[in-house]
Amino acid sequence: MTQEPGTRDKLFADITGHCATPGCPMCHLMHDVMHSYMDSVMNEYILDIPARAEMREARGYCKRHAWYLPEGRGRVLGIAIIHDDILKNVLRAIDEPREPRRVRRRAQALLKRLRPSRECPACIYERKMDEVTTRALLKYLHDPEFARVLSASSGLCLRHFFNALEFVRDDATYDQLLAVQERTLSTLQMELAEFIRKSDYRFQHEGFGKEGDSWLRAIAVVSGEKGAR
Ligand SMILES: [Zn+2]
Ligand SMILES: [Zn+2]
Repeated sequence: MTQEPGTRDKLFADITGHCATPGCPMCHLMHDVMHSYMDSVMNEYILDIPARAEMREARGYCKRHAWYLPEGRGRVLGIAIIHDDILKNVLRAIDEPREPRRVRRRAQALLKRLRPSRECPACIYERKMDEVTTRALLKYLHDPEFARVLSASSGLCLRHFFNALEFVRDDATYDQLLAVQERTLSTLQMELAEFIRKSDYRFQHEGFGKEGDSWLRAIAVVSGEKGAR
């Protein structure tokens, strides 16, 4: 089944737009997706009462997502408001009456009040969007233009490759996905082997070529781009 150009949507352009950049296009796409999410949270947070309650109960974002916040423009006031909300709530929990109990029990009771009672909202959103974008990737693999552009990219990191394998449902998509991954992973593996060979003092005079940063690209392929899940 060939994907007609008319059925392409925004994600087609979003994924192919990242294929010319070195690294996993899906990691790059998710980076953009999460920044758009952070921007919308910042814009709507003050008026969004349920979102404020969720954020307090989650005790803010997890460490990885929290450090997305200062990377975006115009978020300083929003960051201050979110954290003011959380800290007021934490202080309220600390301030509850102290019961005449042993310190260990008092500390445990306080810990129970302080610990997050729900998951990081950005993690929940990211999981959902990871599935949406992976399903789009698989749908577009039938489109010859998409397959050509993806084949010329760095390929998917292992995590996004695994994601795609979770959702693949037909032979043609599976074969296309494997062709892209086998080619990109074997190219990288050969570059690593060449890097290791040239690191030997007997071959150092040859100097490094494109394999010079293969060790860094390998981290991104095996563990995902920096900041990615
Ligand atoms: Zn990735
Ligand atoms: Zn998170």
